[in-house]
Amino acid sequence: MFENQEAAQVQPKLIIHGGAGSSLKGKGGAEKVRHSLYKVLEDVYAFLLTGASAKEAVVRGCRLLEDDPCFNAGTGSVLQSDGQIRMSASLMDGQRRRFSGTINVSRVRNPIDLALFLQDSSDRVLSDYGSAELLRELQIPIYDPLTDIRLQEWIQERKQNFVKEMAGVVAEKELLTEPGYGTIGVVALDAHGYIAAGTSTGGKGFERIGRVSDSAMPAGNYATTEAGVSCTGIGEDIIDECLAARIVVRVTDGMSLQAAFERSFAEAEQHQRDLGAIGIDATGAMAWGKTSQVILAAYHTGEKIGDTLDAGPGTIVKIV
Ligand code: ASP
Repeated sequence: MFENQEAAQVQPKLIIHGGAGSSLKGKGGAEKVRHSLYKVLEDVYAFLLTGASAKEAVVRGCRLLEDDPCFNAGTGSVLQSDGQIRMSASLMDGQRRRFSGTINVSRVRNPIDLALFLQDSSDRVLSDYGSAELLRELQIPIYDPLTDIRLQEWIQERKQNFVKEMAGVVAEKELLTEPGYGTIGVVALDAHGYIAAGTSTGGKGFERIGRVSDSAMPAGNYATTEAGVSCTGIGEDIIDECLAARIVVRVTDGMSLQAAFERSFAEAEQHQRDLGAIGIDATGAMAWGKTSQVILAAYHTGEKIGDTLDAGPGTIVKIV
């Protein structure tokens, strides 16, 4: 199962997110997110303990989060301005320093599966039409990821002629009867010390047809042998900061994960960005940061599970 039998045994680490945005209204919302995130953490951490590679663990975590209709990825994705769902996902295997992804794909249950397939392809990032062709080639069954709550949200916005810039990435109680959360991301360090990162999204919601999310770009998802980062928040802000690659390259060049997060988030705050990120480095340090009101993230250190749901507003960076 291990891709490199020679590598040393280290304690696996795992950090995941379910998006960032404006505050969770009411305690019930936070408890529901916590429950969803912890279930995934427990499953994927146990998988890492069986000797799964970071890449395998990341794909498993992304699939579970894509299947949870609470999150804006796979089932439960937000609708674009024309009422269609188009999803984007990417996977970066830090051991091979290899990025793959799919942009604006429709009618598939797990977009991360396409990113996984593309890891071993000579063409590693496919957009809408090419992704649809690949689905057909791989005979992946057609799947409709639409949920009633996301349809209602779109209908409501349509009545108001799309005044909102994006969908309810985090639950808007008055709009949604149940919480709808954001983009998902998973970063793992496996028992051999290798890192991988995966990110999957339905996008911002209500966007123009053809808009490309950061989630399937190195700006939103990046990993090397030294570190891995997955981002969430306003994609345009993440792209302008080139946040995931920026943090990972800083660590790869010798900065600690903490220093790389602190510096990158100080810059993001200065540039008035609305975003968040999670990361792991090869020493096993984990970090999260945000300039948005909340980031819905949770982590497993091997000894304990923790989360970011009670963090206050404003820019925060933490090492765990
Ligand atoms: N970054 C995603 C996008 O802009 C949205 C999100 O993270 O919630 O497509």
